[in-house]
Amino acid sequence: MLLDLSGVLSEQHTELIQDADIDMTGFQTGYGSFPILKKTPVSIRVTHMKERRFRITGSGRVTLEIPCDRCLEPVETELVLDFVKNIDLSVPDGGQTEELDETNYIDGYTLDVDELIRGEILTGWPMKILCSEDCKGICNVCGQNLNQGTCDCEDTGLDPRMSVIRDVFKNFKEV
Ligand SMILES: [Zn+2]
Ligand SMILES: [Zn+2]
Repeated sequence: MLLDLSGVLSEQHTELIQDADIDMTGFQTGYGSFPILKKTPVSIRVTHMKERRFRITGSGRVTLEIPCDRCLEPVETELVLDFVKNIDLSVPDGGQTEELDETNYIDGYTLDVDELIRGEILTGWPMKILCSEDCKGICNVCGQNLNQGTCDCEDTGLDPRMSVIRDVFKNFKEV
C-alpha cells in the first residue's frame, strides 16, 4: 500500500496516523521466496518533528512460512513488527548518519508501506527456525526426514551440501 504524505510533509508539527495494508503475499530474498500466511494491517504514525525531520513508528504482525533449518519442513513463523524510524528528508539517500534511518521507502510524497515492511522483516528475521526443539533433521545420505522414519544409511557425518555435489559429479560422469 502507498501512503500519501503530502499533508504531513507540507506542515511542521503535524501527524498522519493510519492503518496500512501490506499488499505483498510473499517475501523474496536472495535465498528464496517465503509465503506470507497471515498479516495484520500496520498501524503507522508519521510525525513531522521540524523542518524536514520525521519520525515514523509502526506496529503489526506477519506470519511467514519458513523451512526448518534441519529438516526443511515449512514452519509457520510469526514476526512482530514494532519499529521507530528517525529520518531527515533533507539528507540525500546514502548520506544517513548513525542516528538516522534509510529512506528508500519514501519517494517524493509517497511512503511505500511494503518496502518499509520488507526492511523490517529482514531486520526481524529469526536467527534459527526449527519445527521443534528436538527436530532430528534429514539423513545426509538419502534425504529421509528422520522425524518421520529411519533409514539404513550409515552416518557418514557428511554435510548434506556435499551429497549434492556428489550427485552433480555422478551425473557429470554419466553424460
Ligand atoms: Zn525440523
Ligand atoms: Zn539415509
